[in-house]
Amino acid sequence: MKIAIIDADLLGRTKHRFPNLVCEKLSAYWKERDAEVELKLDYEDLDKYDRVYISKVFTDTWVPDWIANGVNMDTCEVTLPENIFVGGTGFFFEKAPDLDPEIEHHMPDYHLYDDWIASEVKRAEEERKKAGKKFNRTSFMVKFKEYTDYSIGFVTRGCFRKCPFCVNQKYDHVFCHSPLEEFYDPSRKKICLLDDNVLGCPSWKKILEKLIAMKKPFKFKQGMDERLLTEEKCEMLFNASYDGDYTFAFDNIEDYDLIHRKLKLIRKYSKVTNIKFYVLVGFKSTDAEDIENMWKRVELLMRYQCLPYIMRYRNKNETPWKESKYRGMYVAMARWCNQPSFFKKKSFRQYCEANQALVKTEGHVCSSMKALLDFEQEFPEIAKKYFDLRFDEFDGKW
Ligand code: SF4
Repeated sequence: MKIAIIDADLLGRTKHRFPNLVCEKLSAYWKERDAEVELKLDYEDLDKYDRVYISKVFTDTWVPDWIANGVNMDTCEVTLPENIFVGGTGFFFEKAPDLDPEIEHHMPDYHLYDDWIASEVKRAEEERKKAGKKFNRTSFMVKFKEYTDYSIGFVTRGCFRKCPFCVNQKYDHVFCHSPLEEFYDPSRKKICLLDDNVLGCPSWKKILEKLIAMKKPFKFKQGMDERLLTEEKCEMLFNASYDGDYTFAFDNIEDYDLIHRKLKLIRKYSKVTNIKFYVLVGFKSTDAEDIENMWKRVELLMRYQCLPYIMRYRNKNETPWKESKYRGMYVAMARWCNQPSFFKKKSFRQYCEANQALVKTEGHVCSSMKALLDFEQEFPEIAKKYFDLRFDEFDGKW
């Protein structure tokens, strides 16, 4: 039996560096049945395989037209050759069908990407050699750490909030999905959880206790629901060996007071600066009010020394911020906030000035500065309130 597995996001997105868990589970499932499994890196000669699995997480990842045209996202109908199987939110968005439980609950094949990683290393090494430069393997391998260092899985599934912008619409509660043992590989240094709303699970405490008892750094990659934080949750989370940034979301301005209370709670338990919040923008509207709401949230987070990460809303068909009169502001704000090295050291105005200073053509105004000036002219009060705020000036003032 010849099986080809295509991680469409790996092929279609140049900077994508995260293993596709479904591909890894499929690989393990078929290898266990003595199949010849290949991570296929193109869409050629697919008729030579008994089964070809194509998995895609992101809707805007490119796949060949004959595949894209063979999948109806709304009805989930598929008209493709019978050896081709497609799946994932990238093809079916919130309607993506579940995997067969035997595959879903299979230990992933964490070595599916090994040959691809080895060939990337070889290529980079040769390129450096040709250019007469030294190759630092250790620093090059950092970009593959999610493939090499982590056990990955979902301890819970589902969410009760049903946020209209989220693919997670199938369930109305959070429930235990996989025991850690199902995907935990003791030879791996860390644990990466992909749960959507672990803090909303009635068993959250047992889950955290178990993770802490593993004595390995862990992280909830998709972010946690800050609105559900309690004293007990904070105490456990912020005393755990957490890997990288603590990530939460501040999607709605209506949650401002609640998030404010929770930020105070976080700061009661932790002084760490690696706390990040996704800030969704351009969803309800893309007008000046939306820009102001973005600023209100950024300012509050800044005050509590948390980092905003601007998420510009897009769905399977539309990217509303791109059509906005304030498109330039969305781009400039995202560039400033999403690069902590700038956000921590410069106000928005200073960031735009630094960009302008790089312009060589006399009289040319760079896009960031233009966005700032245009918005300031139209809304001087908003600009006065926010454009000169600096993260480092709030240090220790919460
Ligand atoms: S809380 Fe998070 S996971 Fe739940 S529906 Fe909203 S965005 Fe999705």
